[in-house]
Parts: sequence; structure tokens; C-alpha cells
Amino acid sequence: MAMHIVVGECMVEMSGRAEHLYYQTYAGDTYNTAVYLKRCNPNLDVAYWTAAGTDPLSQGFLDSLVQEQLDPSLVLRQKDKTLGLYLINTDCKGERSFAYWRSDSAARQLLGVLHEQTARNIVDQASSLFFSGISLAILSDDNRKQFLQKVTELKERGCRIIFDPNYRPKLWQSVEHARDYTDKAYQLATIAFPGCDDHKTLYGQADLDAVKHHVQALGVEEIVIKNGEHGVQIFSGSQHYIEPAYVVKQVVDTTAAGDAFNGGYLAARLAGQNEQRSARFGAKLAAFVIGHRGAIVEKATMADFLTLNRIV
Ligand code: ADP
Repeated sequence: MAMHIVVGECMVEMSGRAEHLYYQTYAGDTYNTAVYLKRCNPNLDVAYWTAAGTDPLSQGFLDSLVQEQLDPSLVLRQKDKTLGLYLINTDCKGERSFAYWRSDSAARQLLGVLHEQTARNIVDQASSLFFSGISLAILSDDNRKQFLQKVTELKERGCRIIFDPNYRPKLWQSVEHARDYTDKAYQLATIAFPGCDDHKTLYGQADLDAVKHHVQALGVEEIVIKNGEHGVQIFSGSQHYIEPAYVVKQVVDTTAAGDAFNGGYLAARLAGQNEQRSARFGAKLAAFVIGHRGAIVEKATMADFLTLNRIV
């Protein structure tokens, strides 16, 4: 069966639980989306395309892929590199702050996997390919161009291209550079997940209408505009759908709300659901995830959610 591929960087996450005490796990925007996509639609073959090292932390990441039933065939292993890392600290008022060590992470070399014949065949026959603005930002300029060239080829072969701009200013050399590449990615996308916050900082667009016009002008067929607790609006062909967010009684941690939404939406969409039902499922999953600590909700807890909420 043709593979659904998610491309990007997964990092070691260290979240402060008490003074001098950190809890270690793995997370990253595209990784989170891949995990939720597979958990919600186990019938899909999903591969995570990235690069890691050969050290124990990298091995732990490979193990986590296997535990999540994500195909590890597209993980390039490099002896002299390791995963990027970030720390999350929460102050006495509950405000979180992040510190990153990712400038020389293995994932920056992810394109190297295309030198391997088996991996190249998997990529070339992909049925869908999901990437984000972060997947683009971590690459060198040369690699970014090569990657988009590959995406162009895949699109021509009928692969569904899915893009979330996820703008992180610190990862780009300038805002103009980020805009240029985000626009190029939109031009290749069949489905896109623009966030209102992202478009405000990246393009200075103040409202949802401006976001819609910008992305529509770049030719995206299915535009899913995310606007936090105000829900999503979808413009797909000539259809327009509005899907409110779910009310969350106690917001515990908003990390990965957007990633979970993407995973849930795509799980339903790739199972043949229409846009509105897919958005409803994505929103329900996002609401569930922000009611729990961390990007990835524990498997057992999530199993209860999936028993009550089915995509089909
Ligand atoms: P992104 O960070 O990718 O732009 P959003 O912050 O818009 O993503 O969140 C994605 C989805 O998660 C929303 O469309 C909504 O369904 C849900 N969500 C986000 N924040 C909240 C919230 N405070 N309450 C309920 N749902 C939320």
C-alpha cells in the first residue's frame, strides 16, 4: 500500500516537573501530527521522514516510532549527529518558557535519505506527503530547493501535498525569506492548514478574509484556516464550512493543539470523511489534547478517547 509520509524534525523534549527534575520525551510539530494521524486511523501506513543519530537518545526516538506504529524506513541515521533538544519550564504563574538546542540537529540532513534506493522508492510512491514551515526552515537553502523540487515531482505523480506554515521566526534568516518559501509551499499544496496567528506575524494579515485570499490566490484547493478557540473555517472548492472549537473546561496545556487538529483532520479525511466531519473530529481531538499535559497524550488515556470518538 502506498505510504502517507510526514516530514520534519522530532526533538528530545525535557519538561520541568520540579526543581532540577525533568521528564524526557520526544516531540515536534510534524512528529505530533504523525502520531495522532496513525493513532486515529490505524489503517493507514504512515512513515516519518527525518534524520537521527546512532546514540541511545536517537535509538529511543526510533523505538518511539515503532511503539506508535510509524514506519521508520525514512529515518536517516548519522554517526556524528543527534536529535535537537528543548526544555520547557513553567513559572509559578503557570507561564511556560521554551529553550531550544537544535541548530545542528541531525534532522537538518534529512534529505540525505534520498541517496538510499529503498527510501527513495517509498518517497516516490507516496500517496500523501505532509510537511510544515518548520520542516522547510531547518533545511539549508540548497536542500530546501531540492526538497521543493522533490515535492513538485511527487505532486505531478498524483501525490497529495499537505502543508502547515507553522511560522517560527527564529528559524528563518529573515521574514522575507520565510514568506517566499511559505508561498512556494502553498503553491504546491492540495490541502493547507494556515493559522491566523501565523499569518498575522508572517504577512501582517489582520483577519481570516485576508488569510483566505492570500492562500486561495496561491491555488490551494482545500484551505483549513485555524483560529485557536474561535475554531476553523474551511474553503474547499466552492464550499465554505465553519466549525467551532469545543469548549474545554480546564485548559491544561495548549502545546500541540494545532498538530493534533491536523492529525485528526487528516485521519478522518483520508478515511473518506468530508471536510466538515473531519474538522469536527480534529477539533474534538485538539480539545482532548489541550486538556492533558504535554504534546502527546499517553496511549492508554487516548485509547478511551478513541473508543468514544470514531472517525467513521
Ligand atoms: P495552530 O497553533 O496550529 O494555529 P490553533 O491554535 O488554531 O492551531 O488550534 C487548532 C485547533 O485546536 C483549533 O481550531 C481548535 O479546534 C483547537 N483549540 C485551540 N485552542 C483551543 C481552546 N483554547 N479551546 C478549545 N479548542 C482549542
